[in-house]
Amino acid sequence: MMQLRPLYLCLGAFLMTGLLSACSSDTPQQVNVYSARKAELIEPLLKRFTADTGIQVNLVTGKADALIQRLKAEGRASPADLLITVDAGRLYRAKQMQLTQTIEQTALTSLVPGAYRDPEGHWLGLSLRARPIMYARDRVSPDSLSTYEALADEHWHGRVCIRSSNNIYNQSLVASMIAASGIDAVEQWAGDFVDNFARNPVGGDRDQIKAVAAGQCDVAVANTYYLLGMLTSANQAEKHAAQQVSVFWPNQGNRGTHVNISGIAMTQSAKNIEQAQQLMTYLLQPEAQAWYAQKNGEYPVIEGPEVHPLLQRWGNFKKDNLNVNRLGELNTAAVQVMDRAGWR
Ligand code: FE
Repeated sequence: MMQLRPLYLCLGAFLMTGLLSACSSDTPQQVNVYSARKAELIEPLLKRFTADTGIQVNLVTGKADALIQRLKAEGRASPADLLITVDAGRLYRAKQMQLTQTIEQTALTSLVPGAYRDPEGHWLGLSLRARPIMYARDRVSPDSLSTYEALADEHWHGRVCIRSSNNIYNQSLVASMIAASGIDAVEQWAGDFVDNFARNPVGGDRDQIKAVAAGQCDVAVANTYYLLGMLTSANQAEKHAAQQVSVFWPNQGNRGTHVNISGIAMTQSAKNIEQAQQLMTYLLQPEAQAWYAQKNGEYPVIEGPEVHPLLQRWGNFKKDNLNVNRLGELNTAAVQVMDRAGWR
């Protein structure tokens, strides 16, 4: 019943005064968000936004592909104003499916460095997710590591753990390599790289880190926030495993370490455009960026805010400044290369 009240007020004001403007001023401001980001990793920030602005945020969480399908099925009637995903590839996909629209506010889009937003302004990065090499501290000297490409060398035969090729993080990593070196070079690399696998890909990034700690392999490729999550875990076994593993930033001598984004798109169906822009702007302010990055163990998309103390310990690194839109454009090529290499 509470939710209906503003409508009654609005209708009453309209009948009494005949002024439609009385309606809009009584209608609570709101913005509707479909989020592939877990609720606990975004909700506290949305609550702060509501407290600061009076704009109510209605949050629907789910898997990215399911949310994209839902947007498609709902079409123009969709209540969603914003879509949040945890990788650029899916934002690209949503745009290709014509489920997004240009964010018509250059002051907002210019808050985000060019590499981390759609060239046509359909979506913006909210945080950066680095995918470095992780190694067994007791068995691997960081001097023996250099690039993603070098993980295909004979030296690493039977020593590499990485998750399956149907995972979009790996698809994006391979897409970034294709952008850098071309498809033929990456095709050759992928074959040698797969030959170096210690086991058939199984599990998520945490499982690769655990396998390194357990001695099943010596190096893995994983996103840093998984290692951070394990280091700060209440589960002692997980914490202990993470302590056996350290981060190596690959490709510092050339293009930099691969990064992906979590990002936000304006949906094609958006009706609360002004409120949606306000929320996007809010999420890009230094305070929100610091909270978002620290809470999730990611990196801010803007310069300035400090990262989590444990991330600070792994030091600064050069990031690949490839426009993350290319990760979407090259996704199909990446999947084909991985497939042909036998990366399951
Ligand atoms: Fe993840």
